[in-house]
Amino acid sequence: MRSKAVQQPPVRRVNQLHGLNVSAVLTEIFRQEGISRKEVADRVGISPASVTSIASRLLDAKLIKEAERVTAGQGRPKVPLAVDHKSTLILGIHLGPRTTGVVLTGLNGAEIASVLVPHPGMAAEAAFDLIVAAADGLIAEHAADRPILGTGLATGGIVDSDLGIIIDNPGAGWKEVPALDLLGGRLPGPLFLDNNARAAAQSELLYGHGTVDNDFVLIVVSADLGAVLVDEGRIRSGAHQRAGYISHLRVTEDPVECDCGRTGCLKAVATDDAVVGFCRAAGLPVRQFDDVEALVDAGDSRAVAIVRERNRSVARAVADMLDLLDPALVVIAGTPAERPEMLAQIRDDACLVAQCGDAAAERIVFSSDHALSLSLFAASLVVSEVLRTPLLFMGETAVE
Ligand SMILES: [Zn+2]
Repeated sequence: MRSKAVQQPPVRRVNQLHGLNVSAVLTEIFRQEGISRKEVADRVGISPASVTSIASRLLDAKLIKEAERVTAGQGRPKVPLAVDHKSTLILGIHLGPRTTGVVLTGLNGAEIASVLVPHPGMAAEAAFDLIVAAADGLIAEHAADRPILGTGLATGGIVDSDLGIIIDNPGAGWKEVPALDLLGGRLPGPLFLDNNARAAAQSELLYGHGTVDNDFVLIVVSADLGAVLVDEGRIRSGAHQRAGYISHLRVTEDPVECDCGRTGCLKAVATDDAVVGFCRAAGLPVRQFDDVEALVDAGDSRAVAIVRERNRSVARAVADMLDLLDPALVVIAGTPAERPEMLAQIRDDACLVAQCGDAAAERIVFSSDHALSLSLFAASLVVSEVLRTPLLFMGETAVE
Protein backbone atom coordinates (compact mmCIF):
# COMPACT_ATOMS: atom_id res chain seq x y z
CA MET A 1 0.00 0.00 0.00
CA ARG A 2 1.28 3.44 -0.84
CA SER A 3 1.68 6.10 1.75
CA LYS A 4 1.16 9.62 0.56
CA ALA A 5 3.14 12.61 1.78
CA VAL A 6 5.90 10.59 3.41
CA GLN A 7 8.62 9.39 1.08
CA GLN A 8 10.38 6.24 2.18
CA PRO A 9 14.09 7.01 2.09
CA PRO A 10 16.40 4.42 0.62
CA VAL A 11 17.29 2.09 3.45
CA ARG A 12 20.30 -0.06 3.98
CA ARG A 13 19.80 -3.72 4.71
CA VAL A 14 20.72 -3.26 8.34
CA ASN A 15 17.92 -0.67 8.65
CA GLN A 16 15.41 -3.03 7.18
CA LEU A 17 16.36 -5.64 9.76
CA HIS A 18 16.07 -3.06 12.52
CA GLY A 19 12.68 -2.01 11.19
CA LEU A 20 11.51 -5.62 11.14
CA ASN A 21 12.58 -6.08 14.74
CA VAL A 22 10.78 -2.93 15.88
CA SER A 23 7.69 -4.11 14.00
CA ALA A 24 7.91 -7.57 15.60
CA VAL A 25 8.28 -6.12 19.11
CA LEU A 26 5.39 -3.69 18.70
CA THR A 27 3.19 -6.40 17.16
CA GLU A 28 3.79 -8.75 20.10
CA ILE A 29 2.88 -5.99 22.56
CA PHE A 30 -0.22 -5.21 20.48
CA ARG A 31 -1.27 -8.87 20.49
CA GLN A 32 -0.77 -9.44 24.18
CA GLU A 33 -1.37 -6.57 26.53
CA GLY A 34 0.75 -6.84 29.65
CA ILE A 35 3.56 -8.85 28.04
CA SER A 36 7.02 -8.37 29.61
CA ARG A 37 10.25 -7.48 27.79
CA LYS A 38 11.58 -10.98 28.50
CA GLU A 39 8.49 -12.60 26.99
CA VAL A 40 8.72 -10.36 23.92
CA ALA A 41 12.39 -11.36 23.51
CA ASP A 42 11.50 -15.05 23.72
CA ARG A 43 8.74 -14.76 21.15
CA VAL A 44 10.55 -12.55 18.65
CA GLY A 45 13.82 -14.41 19.03
CA ILE A 46 16.05 -11.40 19.73
CA SER A 47 18.06 -10.55 22.82
CA PRO A 48 16.40 -9.01 25.90
CA ALA A 49 18.82 -6.08 25.54
CA SER A 50 17.55 -5.40 22.01
CA VAL A 51 13.96 -5.53 23.22
CA THR A 52 14.79 -3.10 26.02
CA SER A 53 16.36 -0.70 23.54
CA ILE A 54 13.46 -0.95 21.09
CA ALA A 55 10.88 -0.66 23.88
CA SER A 56 12.45 2.52 25.18
CA ARG A 57 12.14 4.10 21.73
CA LEU A 58 8.55 2.93 21.40
CA LEU A 59 7.91 4.45 24.83
CA ASP A 60 9.49 7.74 23.70
CA ALA A 61 7.26 7.71 20.62
CA LYS A 62 4.25 7.09 22.90
CA LEU A 63 3.24 4.04 20.91
CA ILE A 64 3.50 1.86 24.02
CA LYS A 65 3.29 2.41 27.76
CA GLU A 66 4.40 0.63 30.91
CA ALA A 67 1.65 -0.68 33.11
CA GLU A 68 2.00 -1.25 36.86
CA ARG A 69 4.68 -3.63 38.00
CA VAL A 70 3.54 -7.09 38.96
CA THR A 71 5.55 -8.99 41.56
CA ALA A 72 5.16 -12.72 41.23
CA GLY A 73 6.89 -14.93 43.81
CA GLN A 74 10.59 -14.35 44.45
CA GLY A 75 11.60 -13.19 41.00
CA ARG A 76 12.22 -9.69 39.74
CA PRO A 77 9.04 -7.69 39.27
CA LYS A 78 7.63 -7.95 35.78
CA VAL A 79 6.97 -4.64 34.03
CA PRO A 80 4.02 -5.20 31.73
CA LEU A 81 4.05 -3.42 28.38
CA ALA A 82 0.92 -2.36 26.54
CA VAL A 83 0.04 -0.33 23.49
CA ASP A 84 -0.58 3.29 24.43
CA HIS A 85 -4.10 3.87 23.12
CA LYS A 86 -4.49 7.36 24.45
CA SER A 87 -1.44 9.42 23.48
CA THR A 88 -1.81 9.28 19.71
CA LEU A 89 -4.82 9.36 17.40
CA ILE A 90 -5.81 8.01 14.02
CA LEU A 91 -8.24 9.49 11.54
CA GLY A 92 -10.57 7.06 9.77
CA ILE A 93 -12.76 8.09 6.85
CA HIS A 94 -15.37 5.99 5.12
CA LEU A 95 -16.10 7.66 1.79
CA GLY A 96 -19.72 6.57 1.45
CA PRO A 97 -21.95 6.74 -1.61
CA ARG A 98 -24.10 9.52 -0.12
CA THR A 99 -22.66 10.18 3.33
CA THR A 100 -19.09 10.00 4.61
CA GLY A 101 -18.20 9.02 8.15
CA VAL A 102 -15.14 10.62 9.75
CA VAL A 103 -13.84 9.20 13.04
CA LEU A 104 -10.98 9.72 15.46
CA THR A 105 -9.74 6.57 17.18
CA GLY A 106 -6.87 5.35 19.30
CA LEU A 107 -4.58 2.46 18.34
CA ASN A 108 -7.12 0.10 19.94
CA GLY A 109 -9.63 0.98 17.23
CA ALA A 110 -12.10 2.48 19.70
CA GLU A 111 -14.00 5.56 18.60
CA ILE A 112 -13.16 8.82 20.35
CA ALA A 113 -15.33 11.16 18.28
CA SER A 114 -17.02 11.09 14.90
CA VAL A 115 -19.02 13.15 12.44
CA LEU A 116 -21.15 12.36 9.39
CA VAL A 117 -20.83 14.40 6.19
CA PRO A 118 -23.72 14.18 3.69
CA HIS A 119 -22.75 14.69 0.03
CA PRO A 120 -25.49 13.09 -2.06
CA GLY A 121 -24.83 13.22 -5.79
CA MET A 122 -21.73 15.39 -5.47
CA ALA A 123 -18.57 15.01 -7.53
CA ALA A 124 -15.62 13.65 -5.58
CA GLU A 125 -13.72 16.97 -5.51
CA ALA A 126 -16.65 18.88 -4.03
CA ALA A 127 -17.40 16.10 -1.54
CA PHE A 128 -13.72 16.01 -0.52
CA ASP A 129 -13.84 19.75 0.34
CA LEU A 130 -16.69 19.09 2.78
CA ILE A 131 -14.95 16.03 4.22
CA VAL A 132 -11.65 17.86 4.80
CA ALA A 133 -13.52 20.69 6.55
CA ALA A 134 -15.36 18.20 8.76
CA ALA A 135 -12.12 16.39 9.62
CA ASP A 136 -10.47 19.71 10.51
CA GLY A 137 -13.37 20.51 12.82
CA LEU A 138 -13.27 17.10 14.48
CA ILE A 139 -9.52 17.36 15.07
CA ALA A 140 -9.77 20.91 16.42
CA GLU A 141 -12.46 19.86 18.86
CA HIS A 142 -11.16 16.51 20.08
CA ALA A 143 -7.47 15.97 19.36
CA ALA A 144 -6.13 18.43 21.94
CA ASP A 145 -2.35 18.17 21.61
CA ARG A 146 -2.28 14.53 20.62
CA PRO A 147 -0.45 13.77 17.37
CA ILE A 148 -2.39 12.05 14.59
CA LEU A 149 -0.47 9.10 13.19
CA GLY A 150 -2.19 9.09 9.82
CA THR A 151 -5.45 8.85 7.92
CA GLY A 152 -7.10 5.69 6.61
CA LEU A 153 -9.67 6.02 3.85
CA ALA A 154 -12.02 3.27 2.71
CA THR A 155 -14.66 3.31 0.02
CA GLY A 156 -16.88 0.97 -1.98
CA GLY A 157 -16.22 -0.45 -5.41
CA ILE A 158 -12.84 -1.00 -7.00
CA VAL A 159 -9.85 0.76 -5.47
CA ASP A 160 -6.20 0.69 -6.43
CA SER A 161 -4.60 1.02 -3.03
CA ASP A 162 -1.06 1.15 -4.46
CA LEU A 163 -1.83 4.10 -6.73
CA GLY A 164 -4.29 5.70 -4.33
CA ILE A 165 -7.06 5.79 -6.94
CA ILE A 166 -10.76 5.07 -6.65
CA ILE A 167 -11.14 3.22 -9.95
CA ASP A 168 -14.90 2.78 -9.84
CA ASN A 169 -17.30 3.47 -7.00
CA PRO A 170 -20.69 2.94 -8.64
CA GLY A 171 -22.60 3.88 -5.46
CA ALA A 172 -21.09 7.37 -5.40
CA GLY A 173 -20.76 7.62 -9.18
CA TRP A 174 -17.00 8.23 -8.85
CA LYS A 175 -14.64 6.90 -11.49
CA GLU A 176 -10.86 7.24 -11.79
CA VAL A 177 -10.63 9.59 -8.81
CA PRO A 178 -6.99 10.12 -7.68
CA ALA A 179 -8.12 10.32 -4.07
CA LEU A 180 -4.71 10.38 -2.41
CA ASP A 181 -3.44 13.07 -4.76
CA LEU A 182 -6.54 15.17 -4.11
CA LEU A 183 -6.38 14.71 -0.33
CA GLY A 184 -2.61 14.56 0.28
CA GLY A 185 -1.47 17.49 2.42
CA ARG A 186 -5.05 18.29 3.43
CA LEU A 187 -5.47 15.47 5.98
CA PRO A 188 -2.98 14.19 8.57
CA GLY A 189 -0.47 12.00 6.71
CA PRO A 190 0.50 9.44 5.78
CA LEU A 191 -2.71 8.57 3.96
CA PHE A 192 -3.83 5.06 3.09
CA LEU A 193 -6.70 4.14 0.79
CA ASP A 194 -8.40 0.80 0.31
CA ASN A 195 -11.84 -0.59 -0.38
CA ASN A 196 -14.40 -1.22 2.33
CA ALA A 197 -14.10 -4.98 2.28
CA ARG A 198 -10.31 -4.98 2.62
CA ALA A 199 -10.53 -2.38 5.39
CA ALA A 200 -13.09 -4.57 7.18
CA ALA A 201 -10.77 -7.56 6.81
CA GLN A 202 -7.90 -5.50 8.20
CA SER A 203 -9.99 -4.62 11.24
CA GLU A 204 -10.99 -8.26 11.65
CA LEU A 205 -7.31 -9.23 11.50
CA LEU A 206 -6.31 -6.71 14.16
CA TYR A 207 -9.23 -6.89 16.57
CA GLY A 208 -11.56 -9.74 15.64
CA HIS A 209 -11.52 -13.31 14.38
CA GLY A 210 -8.08 -12.71 12.88
CA THR A 211 -6.55 -12.68 16.34
CA VAL A 212 -7.54 -16.36 16.66
CA ASP A 213 -7.25 -17.60 13.08
CA ASN A 214 -5.65 -15.52 10.33
CA ASP A 215 -6.95 -17.66 7.46
CA PHE A 216 -10.40 -16.47 6.47
CA VAL A 217 -12.59 -14.96 3.80
CA LEU A 218 -14.52 -11.88 4.79
CA ILE A 219 -17.69 -10.97 2.92
CA VAL A 220 -19.24 -7.53 3.26
CA VAL A 221 -22.94 -7.32 2.46
CA SER A 222 -24.38 -3.84 2.80
CA ALA A 223 -24.93 -1.06 0.27
CA ASP A 224 -21.80 -2.54 -1.31
CA LEU A 225 -20.62 -6.10 -1.74
CA GLY A 226 -17.11 -7.38 -1.47
CA ALA A 227 -15.07 -10.35 -0.39
CA VAL A 228 -11.51 -10.51 0.87
CA LEU A 229 -9.21 -13.49 1.00
CA VAL A 230 -6.91 -13.40 4.02
CA ASP A 231 -4.19 -16.01 3.75
CA GLU A 232 -2.01 -16.38 6.85
CA GLY A 233 -2.63 -12.77 7.75
CA ARG A 234 -1.97 -11.42 4.28
CA ILE A 235 -4.76 -9.77 2.31
CA ARG A 236 -4.82 -10.74 -1.34
CA SER A 237 -5.76 -7.80 -3.56
CA GLY A 238 -5.33 -9.61 -6.85
CA ALA A 239 -3.24 -8.89 -9.91
CA HIS A 240 -5.62 -6.10 -10.98
CA GLN A 241 -6.96 -5.05 -7.55
CA ARG A 242 -10.17 -6.91 -8.26
CA ALA A 243 -9.86 -9.96 -6.02
CA GLY A 244 -13.08 -10.51 -4.12
CA TYR A 245 -15.24 -8.57 -6.54
CA ILE A 246 -18.31 -10.75 -5.98
CA SER A 247 -21.03 -8.40 -7.20
CA HIS A 248 -21.76 -10.47 -10.28
CA LEU A 249 -21.47 -13.93 -8.81
CA ARG A 250 -24.55 -15.81 -10.03
CA VAL A 251 -26.53 -16.92 -6.97
CA THR A 252 -30.08 -17.50 -8.20
CA GLU A 253 -31.96 -18.88 -11.18
CA ASP A 254 -34.58 -16.17 -10.68
CA PRO A 255 -34.56 -13.79 -13.65
CA VAL A 256 -33.71 -10.71 -11.61
CA GLU A 257 -31.95 -8.26 -13.91
CA CYS A 258 -28.57 -6.85 -12.95
CA ASP A 259 -27.04 -3.63 -14.25
CA CYS A 260 -24.35 -5.75 -15.92
CA GLY A 261 -26.99 -7.04 -18.34
CA ARG A 262 -27.22 -10.54 -16.90
CA THR A 263 -29.61 -11.98 -14.36
CA GLY A 264 -29.35 -13.58 -10.94
CA CYS A 265 -26.22 -11.71 -9.83
CA LEU A 266 -25.52 -11.29 -6.12
CA LYS A 267 -25.64 -7.52 -6.60
CA ALA A 268 -29.14 -7.71 -8.06
CA VAL A 269 -30.56 -9.63 -5.11
CA ALA A 270 -28.45 -9.11 -2.00
CA THR A 271 -27.39 -5.48 -1.51
CA ASP A 272 -29.34 -3.33 0.93
CA ASP A 273 -30.70 -1.37 -2.02
CA ALA A 274 -31.85 -4.54 -3.76
CA VAL A 275 -33.77 -5.56 -0.64
CA VAL A 276 -35.34 -2.11 -0.44
CA GLY A 277 -36.33 -2.44 -4.11
CA PHE A 278 -38.00 -5.82 -3.55
CA CYS A 279 -39.93 -4.42 -0.59
CA ARG A 280 -41.13 -1.45 -2.61
CA ALA A 281 -42.18 -3.73 -5.47
CA ALA A 282 -44.20 -5.67 -2.89
CA GLY A 283 -45.95 -2.44 -1.94
CA LEU A 284 -44.20 -1.97 1.38
CA PRO A 285 -43.65 1.62 2.56
CA VAL A 286 -39.84 1.66 2.74
CA ARG A 287 -37.31 4.28 1.74
CA GLN A 288 -34.10 2.79 3.08
CA PHE A 289 -32.79 -0.38 4.67
CA ASP A 290 -33.58 0.82 8.21
CA ASP A 291 -37.25 0.84 7.22
CA VAL A 292 -36.99 -2.80 6.10
CA GLU A 293 -35.44 -3.75 9.44
CA ALA A 294 -38.23 -1.96 11.29
CA LEU A 295 -40.81 -3.99 9.35
CA VAL A 296 -38.93 -7.22 10.09
CA ASP A 297 -38.90 -6.30 13.79
CA ALA A 298 -42.64 -5.63 13.61
CA GLY A 299 -43.10 -9.13 12.18
CA ASP A 300 -44.28 -8.08 8.70
CA SER A 301 -44.39 -11.41 6.85
CA ARG A 302 -43.58 -9.96 3.41
CA ALA A 303 -40.51 -8.11 4.69
CA VAL A 304 -39.41 -11.19 6.63
CA ALA A 305 -39.72 -13.33 3.48
CA ILE A 306 -37.75 -10.85 1.37
CA VAL A 307 -34.91 -10.67 3.90
CA ARG A 308 -35.00 -14.47 4.20
CA GLU A 309 -34.50 -14.70 0.43
CA ARG A 310 -31.62 -12.27 0.64
CA ASN A 311 -29.95 -14.44 3.25
CA ARG A 312 -30.39 -17.45 0.94
CA SER A 313 -28.48 -15.59 -1.78
CA VAL A 314 -25.74 -14.61 0.66
CA ALA A 315 -25.52 -18.25 1.73
CA ARG A 316 -25.00 -19.33 -1.90
CA ALA A 317 -22.07 -16.95 -2.19
CA VAL A 318 -20.69 -18.12 1.17
CA ALA A 319 -20.94 -21.78 0.10
CA ASP A 320 -19.04 -20.99 -3.11
CA MET A 321 -16.28 -19.31 -1.08
CA LEU A 322 -15.99 -22.29 1.25
CA ASP A 323 -15.77 -24.77 -1.61
CA LEU A 324 -13.49 -22.71 -3.82
CA LEU A 325 -11.05 -21.27 -1.29
CA ASP A 326 -11.29 -23.63 1.71
CA PRO A 327 -10.74 -20.94 4.35
CA ALA A 328 -10.86 -21.77 8.06
CA LEU A 329 -13.70 -19.25 8.38
CA VAL A 330 -16.04 -17.18 6.27
CA VAL A 331 -16.68 -13.97 8.19
CA ILE A 332 -19.83 -12.06 7.21
CA ALA A 333 -19.84 -8.32 7.83
CA GLY A 334 -22.57 -5.85 6.99
CA THR A 335 -26.28 -5.62 7.57
CA PRO A 336 -26.95 -9.38 8.02
CA ALA A 337 -24.32 -9.40 10.79
CA GLU A 338 -26.18 -6.70 12.69
CA ARG A 339 -28.91 -9.25 13.38
CA PRO A 340 -27.56 -12.30 15.19
CA GLU A 341 -30.67 -14.38 14.45
CA MET A 342 -29.77 -14.35 10.77
CA LEU A 343 -26.64 -16.42 11.29
CA ALA A 344 -28.67 -19.62 11.69
CA GLN A 345 -30.49 -18.98 8.40
CA ILE A 346 -27.31 -18.38 6.47
CA ARG A 347 -25.62 -21.41 8.03
CA ASP A 348 -28.56 -23.70 7.24
CA ASP A 349 -28.78 -22.56 3.64
CA ALA A 350 -25.01 -22.75 3.09
CA CYS A 351 -24.92 -26.32 4.43
CA LEU A 352 -27.59 -27.27 1.89
CA VAL A 353 -25.59 -26.06 -1.12
CA ALA A 354 -21.93 -26.31 -0.09
CA GLN A 355 -19.94 -29.36 -1.13
CA CYS A 356 -18.59 -29.54 2.39
CA GLY A 357 -22.18 -29.95 3.66
CA ASP A 358 -22.88 -29.65 7.37
CA ALA A 359 -19.23 -28.90 8.09
CA ALA A 360 -19.95 -25.45 6.61
CA ALA A 361 -22.02 -24.38 9.62
CA GLU A 362 -19.30 -23.90 12.18
CA ARG A 363 -17.02 -22.21 9.65
CA ILE A 364 -19.51 -19.38 9.04
CA VAL A 365 -19.35 -16.57 11.56
CA PHE A 366 -20.46 -12.99 11.78
CA SER A 367 -17.99 -10.15 11.97
CA SER A 368 -16.82 -9.41 15.50
CA ASP A 369 -17.96 -5.84 15.03
CA HIS A 370 -21.63 -6.44 14.41
CA ALA A 371 -22.48 -2.85 13.70
CA LEU A 372 -20.65 -2.24 10.46
CA SER A 373 -18.41 0.71 11.28
CA LEU A 374 -16.71 1.40 8.01
CA SER A 375 -14.93 4.53 9.23
CA LEU A 376 -13.40 2.52 12.09
CA PHE A 377 -12.35 -0.11 9.58
CA ALA A 378 -10.71 2.67 7.55
CA ALA A 379 -8.74 3.73 10.64
CA SER A 380 -7.48 0.15 11.01
CA LEU A 381 -5.59 0.60 7.70
CA VAL A 382 -3.33 3.04 9.56
CA VAL A 383 -2.98 0.80 12.63
CA SER A 384 -1.87 -2.03 10.37
CA GLU A 385 0.81 0.19 8.83
CA VAL A 386 1.96 1.38 12.27
CA LEU A 387 2.53 -2.25 13.25
CA ARG A 388 4.17 -3.11 9.93
CA THR A 389 6.47 -0.08 9.61
CA PRO A 390 6.60 1.61 13.02
CA LEU A 391 9.75 3.60 12.19
CA LEU A 392 7.75 5.57 9.64
CA PHE A 393 5.52 6.81 12.47
CA MET A 394 8.34 7.40 14.97
CA GLY A 395 10.27 9.95 12.98
CA GLU A 396 13.10 7.43 12.71
CA THR A 397 14.71 6.15 9.60
CA ALA A 398 18.28 5.46 10.56
CA VAL A 399 19.80 2.91 12.82
CA GLU A 400 22.57 3.70 15.27
ZN1 LIG B 1 -24.40 -8.54 -12.63
